[in-house]
Amino acid sequence: MATVDSSSLEATQKFADIVGASGLLTGEQIGPDYAHDEALVGAPVTPRYVARPQTAEQVAELLAAATEAKVPVTARGSGTGLSGGARPCADGLLISFERMNAILEIDTDNQVAVVQPGVTLADLDTATAEAGLMYTVFPGELSASVGGNVGTNAGGMRAIKYGVTRHNVLGLQAALPTGELIRTGGRITKLSTGYDLTQLIIGSEGTCALATEVTVRLYPRLAHSATLLAPFTDLPAVMRAVPTVVRSGVDPVILEYVDKLTLAAISYSQSLNLGIPDAVRETAEAYLVIGVENRDRDRLDDDVAMLGELLGSLGAVDVYVLEGNSAHALIEARERAFWTAKAAGAHDVIDVVVPRAVMHQFFTRAQEFAQAAGAGVVGCGHAGDGNVHLAVFCADDDARHRLLHDIFSAAMTLGGAISGEHGLGRVKTQHFLELEDPVKIALMRRIKDAFDPAGILNPGVLL
Ligand SMILES: Cc1cc2nc3c(=O)[nH]c(=O)nc-3n(C[C@H](O)[C@H](O)[C@H](O)COP(=O)(O)OP(=O)(O)OC[C@H]3O[C@@H](n4cnc5c(N)ncnc54)[C@H](O)[C@@H]3O)c2cc1C
Repeated sequence: MATVDSSSLEATQKFADIVGASGLLTGEQIGPDYAHDEALVGAPVTPRYVARPQTAEQVAELLAAATEAKVPVTARGSGTGLSGGARPCADGLLISFERMNAILEIDTDNQVAVVQPGVTLADLDTATAEAGLMYTVFPGELSASVGGNVGTNAGGMRAIKYGVTRHNVLGLQAALPTGELIRTGGRITKLSTGYDLTQLIIGSEGTCALATEVTVRLYPRLAHSATLLAPFTDLPAVMRAVPTVVRSGVDPVILEYVDKLTLAAISYSQSLNLGIPDAVRETAEAYLVIGVENRDRDRLDDDVAMLGELLGSLGAVDVYVLEGNSAHALIEARERAFWTAKAAGAHDVIDVVVPRAVMHQFFTRAQEFAQAAGAGVVGCGHAGDGNVHLAVFCADDDARHRLLHDIFSAAMTLGGAISGEHGLGRVKTQHFLELEDPVKIALMRRIKDAFDPAGILNPGVLL
């Protein structure tokens, strides 16, 4: 016991020497927010230390000190993750990037922004708007940080057009557990020089290296947009319509599905009035939400007219074109669907991904499994990406584990994966280890060992 105390005192001193006394929190200074992210599963865990570095060098030194003292380290951006990836270890060090939140440069000629990892998406959006540009990774929560996006390979609604974080991060500076700093990629969109370390670090949920600076790709901000809402009388029809909409050439920026129950719940909880007649609302089982954008108003109007006709031919009961405030309100309500599911008592929210053309098959299987387990699954999702978000109502932990095992397994059999964008975190790692090819897992362990030989970075996450 005496050894533990003295070694933890020693580590406290070491960490404080690196970030300064005001940069380190211990004991009662550590507020409840640091103990969890937004995952619905699992209890909060208060870490032994919270360090709030201000420079990349401090992050690297913290990692070297933690490696030497064998203290587990978890990175935290804004803690909005949905898989427990930022939930720390009780005896561990949480590195919070809240004080590394500067936008270092917006380079309009190379169309990139260079930022510290703690920058929030809301702040980056404001800064890029001034330059007529935008960072297009838009998970529903704009308080999320760019570093957290890197950790989870975040996606969000606009991935159908612009891709996920992986496609939008061109370079990193990253701190390794050895205490070294590396630079990968840069303000370049092509690179054919050895292993792509940027891509290895993205989506590794803080288990390989910590991003200390991120170079992100920016796109022009288009002036005109419209949102279409199309009710259908059955969910499989909605899902079967998706590939045709993607193929149509209008290049939707948003292509979401929302089931009847979820639309009713988000409309009620967020006082959303879309003006859908009662008769339509009563027969509609599910809705497609399609966003289109253009630099030119007439071209946008053409796309809207073409989509209206297409949706009608695919079985939509009607098509509502929303603009301005009502379009904004619908998208915002859709982004907040997680909070509605949480308030309704969902026991978990999952984000399985399957090829978009088999989404309806996957959904039917998931419903069958849920019915057999006496559970409920409802939801919405990024339909264009085949990314199905299901709120799972199943109170018993063991029954829920079996149900999720079956659902994940069905998704993988259809050519999909357990998570499309939220990551595995502490919540889904067990399923991953049960279902993934052991040869791939062994290779991932060897990659992890090469980055982090002492195994200090986010133990219990991924592997
Ligand atoms: C209402 C709501 C809606 C959401 N909608 C979406 C959505 O549509 N799409 C989507 O993809 N996600 C969505 N999310 C999840 C979440 O917003 C994203 O996962 C986001 O990327 C997390 O960012 P964060 O800063 O909160 O990261 P955190 O939760 O703090 O961390 C996430 C992971 O990244 C690691 N990490 C943090 N910083 C770094 C760093 N500097 N270097 C390396 N690893 C790091 C952490 O250790 C952890 O494993 C939603 C969440 C909420 C609450």
